[in-house]
Amino acid sequence: MTPSNSSDLSPVESLELALKSPSHPPVTEEDMRQAVRTLLIGLGEDPDREGLLDTPKRVVKALKFLTSGYQQSLDELLNGAVFTENTDEMVLVRDIDLFSSCEHHILPILGRAHVAYIPNGKVIGLSKIARICEMYGRRLQVQERLTAQIADALQGLLQPQGVAVVVEATHMCMVMRGVQKPGSWTATSAMRGIFADDARTRQEFMSLIQRSSQLR
Ligand SMILES: [Zn+2]
Repeated sequence: MTPSNSSDLSPVESLELALKSPSHPPVTEEDMRQAVRTLLIGLGEDPDREGLLDTPKRVVKALKFLTSGYQQSLDELLNGAVFTENTDEMVLVRDIDLFSSCEHHILPILGRAHVAYIPNGKVIGLSKIARICEMYGRRLQVQERLTAQIADALQGLLQPQGVAVVVEATHMCMVMRGVQKPGSWTATSAMRGIFADDARTRQEFMSLIQRSSQLR
């Protein structure tokens, strides 16, 4: 939420202000390792025993990798791979492996994404669709936002006739803690443009991705 005292600022100005005056002091890699060490002690472990000696270093490295999507931008990732193409047929990439981390527990979200769009003069390299999923996956997420971010990225980049994204995923924070039965999946969808407006187009997409589910 925008604080009331910055209501005179445009959204861009507010963001710039927030970036210039972060609410937290800088955190070093050593600070992060110490925090993991503290966690281990709090969990009743001895961080000085042989098997755990390098664990703080490894945990910090792993978490940085799993959230490395924060360091990426769409521009850098695309590297100009948007092309002019006179087609209006649906482009569908099914079963894109998706690995993310839930923002509530920092535990894995494992799943797959199905992404379709109908071009409007511009297409994108197919591998870039998977890279976009990966970039947003490598952040702390909730599945609904991850799904919407993938759809909105493609919608913004290509201004296509429409975008459809379905994410099916299983959340370790639910499965491992026994709230949800192992093997259960959560499905989320984001429909933009013609996929939101036209039931037949949406249905065509849904039947194409259901066929992919039967193959696995
Ligand atoms: Zn969670």
